[in-house]
Amino acid sequence: MSTPRGRKEARELLEQVLRLMPLAHPIRLIFSRAVGEDSYGDTDLLDEGKPTARFLIRIGRDVDNELLEGTLLHEYSHAVAWYWEDTHHGPSFGIAQARLWSLLHDGPGE
Ligand SMILES: [Zn+2]
Repeated sequence: MSTPRGRKEARELLEQVLRLMPLAHPIRLIFSRAVGEDSYGDTDLLDEGKPTARFLIRIGRDVDNELLEGTLLHEYSHAVAWYWEDTHHGPSFGIAQARLWSLLHDGPGE
């Protein structure tokens, strides 16, 4: 079960990730009951094509703290790769996720 502390850390991680790898649109993170049974979270683009366009990441309320970081980075990578490809977990998604992980854990490098 996710705790308020875990949620606070997830929001702080989101702020950090936004600075490392900015997005085309604003993004909002919510913890939701209504996430599919087979998934920890999902990502959507709301108001596509409008000035109010924004990403929405939903993470399941019951995702425990150990899974929060991985789930958030996974969903964020969908937002990064949103316009790059149609495939859900294709190469662009994988590259975004790997780069994000590397920026967070190894620093920006050269
Ligand atoms: Zn996914």
